[in-house]
Amino acid sequence: MNMQSMYSLIDAVNEAEIILIGIGEEWTPSYEDILSDKSVLTGLEKLSALDNQNILMSSLQKMYYESFHSEQLKKAYHNLFQLCGSKDYFLISLNVDRYPELAGFENERCVYPCGNMDYLQCDMNCHNELLLVQSTYQTIQNIIKGKIESSEFQEEKCPYCGGKLVYNTMEAMKYCEGGYLEQWEAYMKFLQKTINRKLCILELGVSMRFPGVIRNAFEKTAYYNQKAKMFRIHQTLADVPQNMEQKVYAKYENSVAYIANLFVS
Ligand SMILES: [Zn+2]
Repeated sequence: MNMQSMYSLIDAVNEAEIILIGIGEEWTPSYEDILSDKSVLTGLEKLSALDNQNILMSSLQKMYYESFHSEQLKKAYHNLFQLCGSKDYFLISLNVDRYPELAGFENERCVYPCGNMDYLQCDMNCHNELLLVQSTYQTIQNIIKGKIESSEFQEEKCPYCGGKLVYNTMEAMKYCEGGYLEQWEAYMKFLQKTINRKLCILELGVSMRFPGVIRNAFEKTAYYNQKAKMFRIHQTLADVPQNMEQKVYAKYENSVAYIANLFVS
C-alpha cells in the first residue's frame, strides 16, 4: 500500500499500544562524513604510524559516534523518541553507534546485534570473551589531544593467544556474540508481549544484508499479529510483501529524511 493513500505514520503510532522499531544502514553515517570531521582528520595524521590500523580507524569512528554530527540524523532520532512517548517500545539497530541512547532511548529497550564499541574481542574469538575498551581508547584519545606521543602507544593483545584485538563488531574475523545476547533475550520477551496487542512496526532504512534479523523477521511478526501495522521506509527497498497489502505501508524515500521531517509535537 502506498503511503499517500493511507493514514499517517503518526496516527498509527498514536493508536498503537506497543511499538517496534528497526533501524538499518540508511542511518549509518558514511565514511565520507566521518572522514570530513576535523578531529578525525587530526587523529588520522597523528596515528598514521601505528601498526594496528583496524583499532585506529574504529577508535576514530567511536569518537565520531560519541556526539551527533549530522543535524538531520539528530532530528530523526529525536522525532522517533518523541513518537514513542511513554509507550512500550523496543528498538533494534543494525548499526554499532549509540545514537538511540544519545536521543533518550533506554539501553534496556535496545539491541545491537551487529556489535558495539564498548568492548574489544580477540579477532579470532579464541575464548569467546570481551574486554573493556577503555584503556586502549583512552590512550588513542590522549595521542590525538597531544598529551602523549604516538610512539608510546602499546598495542594490547589477546591475553590468551596473543593475537590481534579488535572492536566487538561483525567486522571481527570471528564475531563474539556475547555482547548483545542478553538484550536479544529482552527483545524476545518483548516480542511475546506484542501478541494480540495493537502493534506498530517501523522498519527504517533496513537493507537486505541480514534479512533474518529485521526485514523478514518483522514481516513475520506483522503477519501473525492481527492488530499490527507495519511501515517500511527505504530509498530503494520499500516493497510490500505479498498478501500483506492491508497491513504493510511502504514508502520509497530516505527514511532518515522522512522521520526528520515529520511534524512531531
Ligand atoms: Zn585470542
